[in-house]
Amino acid sequence: SQPILQLDSLRMVYADDTGLVSRLLGRADPPVIAADDVTLALRPGETLAVVGESGSGKTTAGRIATLQERPTAGRVLYEGRDVTGLTGAALKAYRAKVQMIFQNPYDALNPRLTVGQSLAEPLTLHGLVPRAGLRAAVLEMLEAVELRPAETFADAFPSELSGGQLQRIAIARALIIKPRVVIADEPVSMLDVSIRSGVMNLMRGIQRDTGVTYLYITHDLAVARYMADRIAVMYLGAVLEEGPAETLISAAGHPYTRLLIRAAPEHRATAVKRDRIRLPGDAASQTGQPTGCRFHPRCPLAQPVCRETAPPRVALGEKHAASCHFATEVRQNGLAAATAAA
Ligand code: SF4
Repeated sequence: SQPILQLDSLRMVYADDTGLVSRLLGRADPPVIAADDVTLALRPGETLAVVGESGSGKTTAGRIATLQERPTAGRVLYEGRDVTGLTGAALKAYRAKVQMIFQNPYDALNPRLTVGQSLAEPLTLHGLVPRAGLRAAVLEMLEAVELRPAETFADAFPSELSGGQLQRIAIARALIIKPRVVIADEPVSMLDVSIRSGVMNLMRGIQRDTGVTYLYITHDLAVARYMADRIAVMYLGAVLEEGPAETLISAAGHPYTRLLIRAAPEHRATAVKRDRIRLPGDAASQTGQPTGCRFHPRCPLAQPVCRETAPPRVALGEKHAASCHFATEVRQNGLAAATAAA
């Protein structure tokens, strides 16, 4: 089917933010490249997880998808139409179709409004439900996110609720206007481990019932595997590997993906204990991008060619591709491909 949302060759460069002292000393920070030729497509009703460390550009991709930020170059397409430059009423209409759920539910909720008022607000803003129907719509949505009794939750203030309850309300607020696409940026990472799976299952159940499409942003490959049909792995502003979730985990063709899998010792979908991806080498930095393959300073398989030539995107199977000179070997032999590649 035709993609509902596409990020097409996105590039996002933040001008250098060199401070005064550095400028006086004649030092200039290089610009930060947060997205470098990022292309992703979401099909209706699917979940695409974008996985990466902090600094990978995954959040930038999400912010561009909701047009909270405009890319330096490239396009956002909704149902095949270029929406990159939308403003005013057209932008508002787009935002009714493409909603965002944030990591911190407090970001989505006004502490001075009751839950019911917070949930009614987007319905009023987009003129979707007449005033007389607001309460019923709010209660129905609270039922849908399993906050019962709905009447009690509708009249509560955010300060009276737990983190898990607040995230359910933030999800309800994003979904109450029936968007086609939801961009969820680490929606469970701030929640207690014991309640994460409940929120993830809730999101999956809502998807089954409504056909909503998710772009699910996470640092956690196990969460991605549990939530997503397809996974895209990002690093330093680029997509390094993309494929169906099970294929990507069982037959990864990029050394970085292999290291992520190794760094997450258990892929149990529910109890996700890791909060950080730990890999050898320096943490990712978007300034001073390495030459050749951007992953070469941390790659255990790096060869001389990797320092000089950017790898092509190698097709590994249906809808599975990795940007590595040795993607075919890595898919077959994993990180043991080192000797084969040498
Ligand atoms: Fe590693 Fe080279 Fe592949 Fe980059 S191209 S991931 S450095 S083997």
